[in-house]
Amino acid sequence: MLKLYNTLSQQKEEFKSLDPSGKVARIYVCGVTPYDTSHMGHALVAALFDVLHRYLEHTGYEVMHVQNLTDIDDDIIKKARKENQPYEELGRRWDALYRDGLRAINCLPFDNYVPASSVIDPIQKMIASLVEKDAAYKASDGNVYFRASSFADYGKLSHLDMAQMLEKARAGAEDSLADFPGNPAKESDLDFILWQAAQPDEPYWDSPWGNGRPGWHIECSAISTQSLGQQFEVHGGGADLIFPHHSSEIAQSETYSGKSPVVGYWMHVAMLYLGGEKMSKSLGNLILINDALKRNSADALRIYLLGHEHYRTPLHFTQEGVDQAEKHADLFRKALAQEAAFGEADVKPYVERFYAAMDDDLDIPAAVGVMLELAKAVIENEVDFRGQEHLRYMSNLLGLPLAQD
Ligand SMILES: [Zn+2]
Repeated sequence: MLKLYNTLSQQKEEFKSLDPSGKVARIYVCGVTPYDTSHMGHALVAALFDVLHRYLEHTGYEVMHVQNLTDIDDDIIKKARKENQPYEELGRRWDALYRDGLRAINCLPFDNYVPASSVIDPIQKMIASLVEKDAAYKASDGNVYFRASSFADYGKLSHLDMAQMLEKARAGAEDSLADFPGNPAKESDLDFILWQAAQPDEPYWDSPWGNGRPGWHIECSAISTQSLGQQFEVHGGGADLIFPHHSSEIAQSETYSGKSPVVGYWMHVAMLYLGGEKMSKSLGNLILINDALKRNSADALRIYLLGHEHYRTPLHFTQEGVDQAEKHADLFRKALAQEAAFGEADVKPYVERFYAAMDDDLDIPAAVGVMLELAKAVIENEVDFRGQEHLRYMSNLLGLPLAQD
């Protein structure tokens, strides 16, 4: 029985479909803003939810896996201006690179991959409903804001107190004055933007509130509601999205639909560090997926990213770690390539321990440990041909093609 750690309850909970059929597992993962993407941190998040997708299918669920693409926001407009090119072109280029990277590390395609710019109507419909419900208002600066005080327990997902939420909101709003807690146009410090009025020379769509573009949080509420329904099973992303992004999504979606919870299981992947600092475009300490694949196989990258630390533990990226994972991949390849084994030991204990680890909130490091033991048992002819069959199946669950050279 699969248990997943839910950020909201801070507990491991038994996975159940919210759908009456009991058979559907809907996964929404926050995607990227395509202007500097496709580094190891993105690979880690994508690979983790790819394994969840594979594992839920293995368990018998019909999986729907959706991701958004933030192809319009402050960052991409700024970067496009700096590089003196249309933001659409910049976005297309980086999005292609990002998706090439995901394919290269063997992620299954999404069932739906939705650019924000393609859902302006649903976004406006949602904002209009929030305004109608008095949960949102147009302010003197021309922007429309969500009234955080209208939603009981706003921020409950984060388990932060008011001072901590304000601190995070302040840090996150560095580049966006509208969301800054001290913005005098807002009724209250935690109110966040839904519709941002266009400045001169900025791209815009017309709306009942004037020309502008959608905020980031409302984009994800609109896309998840449209693609997966008003309630769905899993919402994932990096741990840095818990507040304000995901906290704001809960407030918007649940106010809009009147249904709670919008999400059954909130799953967050811990941050990836390089040289003691979070790997991020702002710090510039990035290892791009393409570059990593020049040195190591996709198998090694996945084994390292998912198998070195549990996904809720921060990962301090080292090349030695990836090289060690390459040795593990080689061992798996060797075990799968050799003549059928003929040993007499039972494979069942390996199989049981592998699935127990996966069921325990996707404990992939423990699962990989069992696979290494099984691979050795195959190579040393301790188990029969079933050892190889199970090893192949387990590798597929972790998305390891283990192709022979
Ligand atoms: Zn999102």
